[in-house]
Amino acid sequence: MSEERLENLVIVGGGPAGYTAALYAARAHLEPLLIEGFQWGGQLQNTTDVENYPGYPDGVMGPEMMQQFRAQAERFGTRFVTDDATRVELSDGGVHRIQVGDEEHAAKAVILAMGAEPRRLGVPGETELSGRGVSTCGVCDGAFFKGENVAVIGGGDSAMEDAIFISKYASDLTLIHRRDDFRASRIMFDRASEQPNIEPMTPYVVEEFVAGDDGKLRAVRVRNVETGAEEELDLGGAFVAIGHIPRSELVADQVDVDENGYVITEGRSTRTSLGGVFAVGDLVDHTYRQAVTAAGTGCMGALDAEWYLRDTPPSPEAHWAGAAGEALETTASS
Ligand code: NAP
Repeated sequence: MSEERLENLVIVGGGPAGYTAALYAARAHLEPLLIEGFQWGGQLQNTTDVENYPGYPDGVMGPEMMQQFRAQAERFGTRFVTDDATRVELSDGGVHRIQVGDEEHAAKAVILAMGAEPRRLGVPGETELSGRGVSTCGVCDGAFFKGENVAVIGGGDSAMEDAIFISKYASDLTLIHRRDDFRASRIMFDRASEQPNIEPMTPYVVEEFVAGDDGKLRAVRVRNVETGAEEELDLGGAFVAIGHIPRSELVADQVDVDENGYVITEGRSTRTSLGGVFAVGDLVDHTYRQAVTAAGTGCMGALDAEWYLRDTPPSPEAHWAGAAGEALETTASS
């Protein structure tokens, strides 16, 4: 027989949503455990200047901002596991189990905050030039390309939205899409088409992002899908907007998710289809996807979890446990 602690709350995911949930939960004396991931910080870890997070009038570097989020959560007693969750076993109103390698953490409530990752083209130069002219977030980085030639790659609503936003800053914007038909909704496509400096380029795929002598993006090499002809477009910036992939793989067969894998929450809450399981941030949001909106839902998740813990009597599974945070006797210490 071994002993394990029954946590009040385990939060899975170390981005703006997870850290904000931890901050609120820690201030509510829930002593949250945050499994923040080996590469903690989420998408902001790969972002340079952040100019649209309120409270930073001079802007802030993405990794620095995440360090500050983390420090603020730690100040009130959040404990961290700086590794990736490898298995999540959720119950409906009972004890949830989160595995990190050989370690298992049991909890009365769980906040899922694993985020989403931008889908990538997987072509040469894309990763190397990320943050040096290649971006996956038009709203975040569009304003850095004032007066420059820019491309947006993709044919869905995200690409249209990015193109419309960035066209306010760019001199000319090429919308590169692999088919002549656009998947985007009619209204978004029409709005993009109405911008005088947006020019569609179809059916083309990007073969390579090309660096200049200064190590920043200089051009993209594109190929016409029908003729095979290749050409190079000189650009200051390129935005890959071909969708996102929610990081729901550990839980998608346990909680309700939509057809794209985003976790479904109830109404305006963060409650999932399972009692004591809450979901926040980009894991549930395919529309706004901003650090500030993720942080907002992280706060909501912590409040929902706090209210759940206050109102929910101890589960039958936990009848041999003391109050949350005390030792839970168990025979299973996998
Ligand atoms: P999406 O609808 O899945 O569109 C992705 C686009 O990227 C498609 O045009 C696709 O081409 C292209 N693509 C995918 N993989 C590619 C690859 N390897 N190489 C080249 N092109 C590739 O994704 P989304 O635009 O992010 O939208 C996701 C959801 O959010 C949608 O339901 C959308 O309506 C919604 N959304 C709404 C708004 C809004 O209403 N304001 C804004 C953003 C997103 P194909 O068409 O050829 O497959």
